[in-house]
Amino acid sequence: MTFRQAITNAAAELAANPHLSEHAHRDAELLLLHTLQISRVTLIAYPDRDLSPAQDALYQIAIRRRIQFEPIQYITGEQEFYGLRLHVTPAVLIPRPETEHLVEAVLKLLPTDRGVKLVDIGTGSGAIAIALAVHLPLATITAVDLSLDALAIAEQNAREHNVANRIQFLPSDLLAAVESHGKTFDAIVSNPPYIPTSDSLTLHPQVREHEPAAALFAGETGLDLYRRLIPEALGALKPNGILALEIGHGQQQSLTRLLAGWNDVTFLNDLQQIPRVALARKPNPFDPNR
Ligand code: GLN
Repeated sequence: MTFRQAITNAAAELAANPHLSEHAHRDAELLLLHTLQISRVTLIAYPDRDLSPAQDALYQIAIRRRIQFEPIQYITGEQEFYGLRLHVTPAVLIPRPETEHLVEAVLKLLPTDRGVKLVDIGTGSGAIAIALAVHLPLATITAVDLSLDALAIAEQNAREHNVANRIQFLPSDLLAAVESHGKTFDAIVSNPPYIPTSDSLTLHPQVREHEPAAALFAGETGLDLYRRLIPEALGALKPNGILALEIGHGQQQSLTRLLAGWNDVTFLNDLQQIPRVALARKPNPFDPNR
């Protein structure tokens, strides 16, 4: 069987389930490139090369996984975020393009010529911490997560992007294990779980059945993590320090309430015009009744 035939057959199998993907051919092609560890250029140059029986068997395994709604990224083991290639496993949320807005917003607010100190809460694959470290060459970052498996992936990603020496990876429930008595941080960033548990059935099975529930859900309202995180962040930030949070669909009003007393509360839309990032500055002195 040639490369081209293998892709055509697999694409037809994937397309047979309309809920699986709108991009059956692209998925089939990506999985072949991954299985054979070849580039798209090679595929285009030699579409009539034959798969060996072993390669064909491996390709069929990858296609079966996809038919079980496993995200392509867990099968190939990687996802690009902010121009950086990151390893991902089912232990971590697959970084989303929406989260790039959060990184971009934080980069606009922080100086590149000072040694700023940051925290990334719920770092997962390390996406946010690593993107910030790459673009803020003098920053030192504490990246926390409850999941040791996630921290191992994040650390590996940091090493591959040469920023592991400036990121401390720490198992911690929010800021519990972070030394912050000195109110030392210039910015605290987080893309916490924010989906209401009751929305579970509205999620695509690709997400619901394969991505870590601990990275997705935050109680009945989806606000549980913000309720704990925002007061903790207040204690750990420097005066004028920045809090930057990704938020879920329809959560702007609730976040406005939770951020009462903070300065410069701003929301940024994602490309679908949904408010996706909440920004705020810690006032000095803090007065919740202001
Ligand atoms: N910080 C990681 C990301 O943005 C993980 C977020 C999460 O698991 N909720 O991709």
